[in-house]
Amino acid sequence: MSASVAAQNEASLPTAHDVPLGPLAGMDVPLWKAATGAVLHLSADCRAFRVPPQRAGVSLRVPDRDSMADVPEPGGCQSCPNPFPDYYTEARHLVSRMEDLGKLAARLEAGHDLDAYCGVLTFGMRGPGGRDPKDAHRLLRKPLAALAAARDRVAERHAHNYRGGEATEELLLIGTASLLHSDFHRRRPGKFRLPWQETWEEICEEALEAQELENPSSDQLRYDYRYGFDRWCEKWLTALMDLSHAEQHDRPSPVAARWARAHDVLEHAIKRDLQDEPWAVRLADRLHHTGRGLVAGIAAPMADRVVVAYDGREVIDLPWAAQELLWVQYPGGVRETSRSQHHLTALPRLFTLLDGLSRRSLDVIADTDWHDSPTVYQEAIDNVPKAAFSPDAHCWWNTNAAGRLPHLLATARADAASARRQAQSAQAPWR
Ligand SMILES: [Zn+2]
Repeated sequence: MSASVAAQNEASLPTAHDVPLGPLAGMDVPLWKAATGAVLHLSADCRAFRVPPQRAGVSLRVPDRDSMADVPEPGGCQSCPNPFPDYYTEARHLVSRMEDLGKLAARLEAGHDLDAYCGVLTFGMRGPGGRDPKDAHRLLRKPLAALAAARDRVAERHAHNYRGGEATEELLLIGTASLLHSDFHRRRPGKFRLPWQETWEEICEEALEAQELENPSSDQLRYDYRYGFDRWCEKWLTALMDLSHAEQHDRPSPVAARWARAHDVLEHAIKRDLQDEPWAVRLADRLHHTGRGLVAGIAAPMADRVVVAYDGREVIDLPWAAQELLWVQYPGGVRETSRSQHHLTALPRLFTLLDGLSRRSLDVIADTDWHDSPTVYQEAIDNVPKAAFSPDAHCWWNTNAAGRLPHLLATARADAASARRQAQSAQAPWR
């Protein structure tokens, strides 16, 4: 991209220049200092003063016009009460959110960055103290709306890179690692952990035997290998799940970079636990490749899609920002309620296994590979009676009213099919 296009994109994001001064305009805050000190304070009531202070000859002046970009930073003493009205706090918060979005946008312009994209998807529009943007000062509503629009533009501008292709592969990888990770943390090892643990232990055992020939009676080494599985696995899985940017260097793809990072993390952990010897590197290589085969072996057969309903009030065992990416990659129907977003869509079966111990959060509604359009899912979820989404209803698809969901889905499909046929016959009436 040319520099001028980048500059244009930057320019379209709102900044402090778009935030009015409001009640701060023309404010003149007298500064205070201790009789013998040089530090300027914003208030005579600052608790840093032990004896009554005196007026410093200067004051902090906010210009009459212009924007928040022109408000001087009070700076200096950390104990001073803020001399500005609440508007200042609210406006500063808005400005810092604008800067946050600017940073995310710059990272996305710089190259593939799943974490930055998820950051934009989950970019909150809350005010200071988690306040609802609806309660914002009336002068801040316009820049706030500009920020929300800018967030949507940034998300849309980069969507093509994160809706499919490498990003879909990344999300499948993150999902598989999350599945193994939660399996790993259960008190009783789950079905995915067992074969893995056995294989890794075998590899460690072989390495240990080879080592003992050269260096007999190394009890500490035996201990380190035996307990290495837990420590090393956890680090390896966490590196795979990590949304943050994996340095691509000369790697051909973000997925390859993610694998390389997991390998580096594992190697680092092994080298630290065992002595930093050449065979530690060989061990890391073997464990990494075995783990990689296992993850690929789990992901592949579970990539077939099933129709699921998701109750937005629950969480699944996926890094939470990645959940937003899940809905971007597998858009379906969304029903907004005052408390949350409920989804009906088709996505890889893998993600339906990512639930906590006690509950299922992604419920399989229809076990089918029929890929419906988001329109069909939207129509079906729109036709679910409102009562199913009431705050006290447990899992909307389980209530009696929503129990008709497969029926609603079938109706929506039939409607869509007949609309398609009508459109075709309108195009080609002789058929
Ligand atoms: Zn002070």
